[in-house]
Amino acid sequence: VRELKTVNELKVWRHQLECSVGLVPTMGYLHEGHLSLIQASTAENEKTIVSIFVNPAQFNQQADFDHYPRDLHRDLELCRDAGVDAVFMPTAEELYPESYDTWINLDRITRRLEGEHRPGHFRGVATVVFLLFQLSQADTAYFGEKDAQQLLVVKRMAADLHLQTKVKGLPTVREADGLAMSSRNARLSQHEREVAPALYRALQKAKEMYDSGIDDPDVIHDKMVEIINSAELFTIDYISLADIDTLEEQQKITPPTLISLAAFIGDVRLIDNIIIGRR
Ligand code: AMP
Repeated sequence: VRELKTVNELKVWRHQLECSVGLVPTMGYLHEGHLSLIQASTAENEKTIVSIFVNPAQFNQQADFDHYPRDLHRDLELCRDAGVDAVFMPTAEELYPESYDTWINLDRITRRLEGEHRPGHFRGVATVVFLLFQLSQADTAYFGEKDAQQLLVVKRMAADLHLQTKVKGLPTVREADGLAMSSRNARLSQHEREVAPALYRALQKAKEMYDSGIDDPDVIHDKMVEIINSAELFTIDYISLADIDTLEEQQKITPPTLISLAAFIGDVRLIDNIIIGRR
């Protein structure tokens, strides 16, 4: 696997290729969620490039950035085993030199959920994804539904700016007990890890309630709070039952509905979601 550390190395690598290129943007500490995106890319493209970049611009808490798990050596091995052709692993100074001054802001779609609770987050995401699309000239880029709003943001940006890169979303990969895989899970204590699946149980319960005929979001919301709080370790950041396109809270569940949540266990912030009545 080619290790590309500079913008120029990436440009040179890309320039000599005439085949289809798939891009998988990540922040590293790879797990099976990432690997499912890589598999889709290698299956659908002649070349696959994975980016590993803990993007400082998308962190709204310095401590979260500082404690974000990193293991480049292991990541490179996993990429090699998965048949990845190149890994782009720039430094922050490489992508954001002193003179850097261009930022991409999406408006309505970033007003709620993660955008509301993590100010500046999607400005960092959209900007780095644009840079990665531009530099890799990828035909298709692969993203996980685990970050549902991020997927919507990237799709919106690609459509609005007429980007050449197609955006594909893939289902959330979960641990056997339902916990959504996340690099941040590595920061949980053993006890925290044991109770963490309560988040997914709350989401599943929400779907069950809807399926059994309950369409009052407040009733479902309260039940979800109860399930999460019964695990005692959580501080809920938000629980949302929203229209999948506008991300506005629904007054009455009318699918397709994005049910999403964010909660802290200690200082680790976890997110998860399910979609009911997907088109
Ligand atoms: P991250 O390294 O957390 O920034 O994630 C990189 C990409 O992998 C994003 O498109 C995520 O949505 C995706 N991803 C992260 N966790 C999962 C998961 N459990 N299942 C599927 N995709 C995931």
